[in-house]
Amino acid sequence: MADKLLVVSVDAMHYDDIAIAREMPGFARILAQASVAEVEGVYPSLTYPNHAAQITGCPPATSGVYNNTQFQPWARRPEWFWDSRLLQVPTIFAAARAGGLTTAAVQWPVTANEPDVDWLVPEIASPQVFAGLEDQYRQTTNTQSFERYVLPNISLIHNDGRKGRYLDMVDEVSAQILRNERPDLMFVHLTALDFARHAEGAHGPHVERALRRVDAALSTFLDILEQTGERDRTSIAVVSDHGHLDVEQVTNLNVVLAERGFLRVSSTGELIDYDAYCLGGGLSGQIFLADGITPERRAQVAQLLAEIEADPRYRIEKFWTAEQARSDYGLDGPFTWVVESEPGVTVASALTGRPVVVAGDEGVPLKRGSHGHAPRHGGQPVLIVTGPAFTAGLDLGRRNMLDQAPTFAAALGLAMPTAQGTVMSDALVGSQVRV
Ligand SMILES: [Zn+2]
Repeated sequence: MADKLLVVSVDAMHYDDIAIAREMPGFARILAQASVAEVEGVYPSLTYPNHAAQITGCPPATSGVYNNTQFQPWARRPEWFWDSRLLQVPTIFAAARAGGLTTAAVQWPVTANEPDVDWLVPEIASPQVFAGLEDQYRQTTNTQSFERYVLPNISLIHNDGRKGRYLDMVDEVSAQILRNERPDLMFVHLTALDFARHAEGAHGPHVERALRRVDAALSTFLDILEQTGERDRTSIAVVSDHGHLDVEQVTNLNVVLAERGFLRVSSTGELIDYDAYCLGGGLSGQIFLADGITPERRAQVAQLLAEIEADPRYRIEKFWTAEQARSDYGLDGPFTWVVESEPGVTVASALTGRPVVVAGDEGVPLKRGSHGHAPRHGGQPVLIVTGPAFTAGLDLGRRNMLDQAPTFAAALGLAMPTAQGTVMSDALVGSQVRV
């Protein structure tokens, strides 16, 4: 059992990236005594459902986080699941608070307004909800975090719309909190590798470049733990949330639904109303039905989906009913079907344009990565654990994403009875859950 635990999510790190990371100084220091697992993530293989699982031990059907974005069909930019109040189950932060531990979270998804994090700088992927950056944090974190860490570092956020706008701020704030507050439990989310894979594809030299940036942050964390005398009492877990696949095609099911009269769009491209609507989730999607839809109309939608599934142009592998998705994947929500596309096919939410766009078409980049696919395809997430709580040098094989939160809790002597995963007791030194 450790005194402290630092969990670092390297967004979109593949298990196979370990071979590259091992040659880098920060990763090498962590991997030297580590136990390592390949991880089966939750479906959809998106950032928010998986990061929610990592702090709750629950799949989307239970956590409530079934996509990155909420179902807001009339919004031009639907909100992400940024607010912790959208979680329907307790977090590891609540367990830590109840156990008298201090906590921190930097850029971790679904942590805005999280009441059980002492030092909180949440990831906010929906800036349109707020009146600027200061307001975004004033409304989503506590006063001490806002004054001590957000305000002094807000100029490190590059407010120019590029996706990496938070990278510098997150590196700096997480280092400052680790050094100054020495929290018992800290979660940090590093996103450089995910951005690189989205921009340039699942594999290539950009992966190593992004991993070097992550490695520098890991080295800084290790140096701080050594300088503050906390290294020997701090266990470290490096995790990731999903892999990437190269995008080959975009299928816009709402365009097909509109063509067939199940969805109506104004001449300016705005949604008027719908019988059925597809919420894209990267390389998968979810079909929502209108409230009060008649059984006859619903049967017509089901008939169209069967046609789409049978038509090779769309490259849709299967429409799962929500009941099937819940029992096979732990995925459920207010939708009626889950759209599983073929690997590499994006299921988008566009209302207008062509129903099928192939990579390489005019204006569509050839090399681009994405995720959201069924977790059995492509590169798999990682779990790397080291430090006093964890057994050293084990190949832990293949483990489930849901096991992480209860295992992290157990590493600190805490129990998470609401987690649906199980404690990886073989990875823990003398695991005794304090109840
Ligand atoms: Zn991610």
